[in-house]
Amino acid sequence: MSKRIVIIGGVAAGASAAAKARRMSEDVEIVLVEAGPYISFANCGLPYLVGGEIARSDDLLVVEEGLFARRFNVDVRTRTRAVSIDRRNGSVLLEGPDGRSESLSYDKLILATGATNIVPPLSGLDRKDVFSLRTIPDAEDIVRSLEALKASHADPIRAAVIGGGYIGLEAAEQLLRRGCEVTIIELAGQVMPALDREMVEPVQAALVKAGCRLILADALAEVLDQSGSGLAVTKSGLRIPFDIAILATGVRPNVELAVSAALQLGASGAIRVDRFQRTSDPAIYAAGDNSELPHVVLGRPVNIPLAGPANKAGRSAGANATLDLLGASDDDQRRISVRGVLGTAIVRACGAVVGTTGLTEKQARRENLPAEVMYMPAANHAAYYPGAQRLLLKLIYDPASGRLLGAQAVGGEGVDKRLDVLATAIQAGLAVEDMEQLDLCYAPPFGSAKDPIILAGFAASNLRRELMPSITPGQLLEALAGANPPLVLDVRTPKEFAAGHLEGAIHIPVEEIRRRLDEIPADRPLAVHCGGGYRSYIAQRILTNRGRGNVRNILGGYGLIQQVVRASGKVP
Ligand code: FAD
Repeated sequence: MSKRIVIIGGVAAGASAAAKARRMSEDVEIVLVEAGPYISFANCGLPYLVGGEIARSDDLLVVEEGLFARRFNVDVRTRTRAVSIDRRNGSVLLEGPDGRSESLSYDKLILATGATNIVPPLSGLDRKDVFSLRTIPDAEDIVRSLEALKASHADPIRAAVIGGGYIGLEAAEQLLRRGCEVTIIELAGQVMPALDREMVEPVQAALVKAGCRLILADALAEVLDQSGSGLAVTKSGLRIPFDIAILATGVRPNVELAVSAALQLGASGAIRVDRFQRTSDPAIYAAGDNSELPHVVLGRPVNIPLAGPANKAGRSAGANATLDLLGASDDDQRRISVRGVLGTAIVRACGAVVGTTGLTEKQARRENLPAEVMYMPAANHAAYYPGAQRLLLKLIYDPASGRLLGAQAVGGEGVDKRLDVLATAIQAGLAVEDMEQLDLCYAPPFGSAKDPIILAGFAASNLRRELMPSITPGQLLEALAGANPPLVLDVRTPKEFAAGHLEGAIHIPVEEIRRRLDEIPADRPLAVHCGGGYRSYIAQRILTNRGRGNVRNILGGYGLIQQVVRASGKVP
């Protein structure tokens, strides 16, 4: 009799596991169990279905159920829920669409149950105009509701988005696209709370410019009824009436089945697995948002609910469950394990794009890891080629070895490719000196001969070679408020200086520094800036080569100083 692999959860991890298991063997029976009506669908596309950018739900079906079943010879059971696991007898209790129960035996079981939306314990969230966005039916419900509201409303539809993480931002962007009046309520003092604050400032600015109201550092307290419409009341007492609300307050690993079967969880609260996705029961595997994977930089298991890791972990679980059934050893060359995750993620909101990979600066500090920072503002491609857009890179690296720990980028076009190169660099264990050496593709429509990544590598390497002592805008703001504040030297053009400058800064354009050296007081530490950090570096080198000590380059220049000031709310 053939052996049976049962997979619970039929989306990213589950469908990947089923397809891989079949590619490994024609001899095993594979049953894919999914509580919802669809398998193998792209949850990541749901916000765009809400906004109409993606026209039909069917477009989100990566592989349609019948085709999947035929192509991979998989017994697909949709609208079927796994209720419990009987480990001793190797069976799982299923509840089918007609409500009938069935005990299905397994030789290997793969849990790919994903994550569950976090619903804060607040009154009013059970209203029918408050929606989650997790499944195709969720998105269809939202679209139906928006269409009904549009038909019955002369005024714009008022939408409240609770949570300013990436799903909240994508939902907000798409609701704005539909002409809604959108308010985002976010508990943290910034959107995308996992990222460094100054890096999300351009995204916040883009949202506000597009007409979105941002309520930050305030939490939803309750939802009331106001003449049949919803009223979101925040902790600080703000009252936001809405016609539709989207709850995007994060997710947690769906470990219900695992817990009831007494499988071990890790410190993150997700299912603990070994390098072959085996849980504490060697007959049971877990993959995707419900389980842990090692973090490439931190080296310890983490739970990062994203599609890329879920797909890879599912593929690994499918391969390893089949190999274990076939009696292969752990050294078998067909084994696959996921080496690690970096939390590489990107979001677009109203034209602004921000993303991250590896550790953020605040995460590195939280972890007590020594971390140096480099900012590099640059154009996404040759500045002279039409359509160039500004982007800002931030590197976080180990000051002792130069090894890259993390990176973030914000801008428009080109943010994605820089993050992908940097994610690859982190995974390869590269140092900032290696980034100087990268040989990246270049033609004017695509990049620059000195790509922003290479420029960031130059600058960070110069810093490490002590050719460019530096100060970040954040450190500058602190130093200016401190006991021995540095003197700020602004080396931009008179026109740039006239358009805006720091209070108390002395102004000498970089080309005039050599002949105006005596205008710079010698008794104070000096912090030099230009627009982006390059001309100030030239000025710093002139001053240093002529014997002036204690000169720091302000990273990212005036543009970033302004960004940090706006993000911090401090006036220098
Ligand atoms: P899921 O895709 O959640 O699938 C788990 C499945 O298991 C569910 O369909 C569920 O019905 C089923 N299930 C659970 N319990 C049972 C049970 N007891 N019996 C039967 N079936 C069960 N990630 C990115 O990397 N980039 C993005 O842009 C992005 N955008 C997103 C946008 C949205 C709106 C959402 C919701 C998620 C987004 N994600 C994104 C996250 C990404 O979709 C998930 O990380 C990924 O889908 C996880 O895959 P999974 O298979 O682990 O879980």
